[in-house]
Amino acid sequence: MTETSVKSAVLILLGPPGAGKGTQARMLEEQFGLVQLSTGDLLRAAVAAGTEAGKQAKTVMEAGALVSDDIVLAILRDRMTEPDTKAGIILDGFPRTAKQAEALDKLLESEGLSLGAAISLEVDDAAMIERVSGRYTCANCGEGYHDTFKTPSVDGVCDKCGSTEFKRRADDNAETVGARLEAYHQQTAPLITYYAGKGALRRVDAMGDINRIAEDLAAIVREVAA
Ligand code: AMP
Repeated sequence: MTETSVKSAVLILLGPPGAGKGTQARMLEEQFGLVQLSTGDLLRAAVAAGTEAGKQAKTVMEAGALVSDDIVLAILRDRMTEPDTKAGIILDGFPRTAKQAEALDKLLESEGLSLGAAISLEVDDAAMIERVSGRYTCANCGEGYHDTFKTPSVDGVCDKCGSTEFKRRADDNAETVGARLEAYHQQTAPLITYYAGKGALRRVDAMGDINRIAEDLAAIVREVAA
């Protein structure tokens, strides 16, 4: 059941690949009825659909680099103006550059929305390569698994929906993860200072138990959107 006492909220999840942004965003969706907006998911859908933007993004993503701001902004703008986002959104993987952060400020202003919080998921970098390299998801419902840390209770069967189809992202391999971590530190980590300057930054220790982390995030959502 979703908690309904939360008003329209815009939250940003910041953190390197493997920090748990997607997992936590999905949990907040279920708990508060917010909509997860993942630019990575939107780009992967564009790649799979073979759109012009998808074709341009494909090789960049495979190399672990950042897709151009123009492509990402166009994709996000389209999605953000769909009606289901009115209940509030969790931005997962966006913004990733200073230009994207400034564009988001303008977009929120034009939509009459304000930023609830930018939450930095603080993790130990060295652990991220192992976390990302072993992860996979259910091809049907998207539930996340990991070769070492979270296997299905029945081998090869999704705990959540019973599907036997799973998938791995093309960029979740040790080589590409290194490039993605570097892109994070060079281009995205400076946004922590940007949002601290606006008084919107919240830091959450994102190592350890997933449910404890989810509880820390839920407390922030209740606080900023009550
Ligand atoms: P993610 O699913 O967030 O890990 O993103 C996967 C890949 O999609 C990244 O390594 C980038 O190549 C691309 N990507 C996702 N979001 C963005 C963004 N906001 N800006 C630029 N590239 C992005």
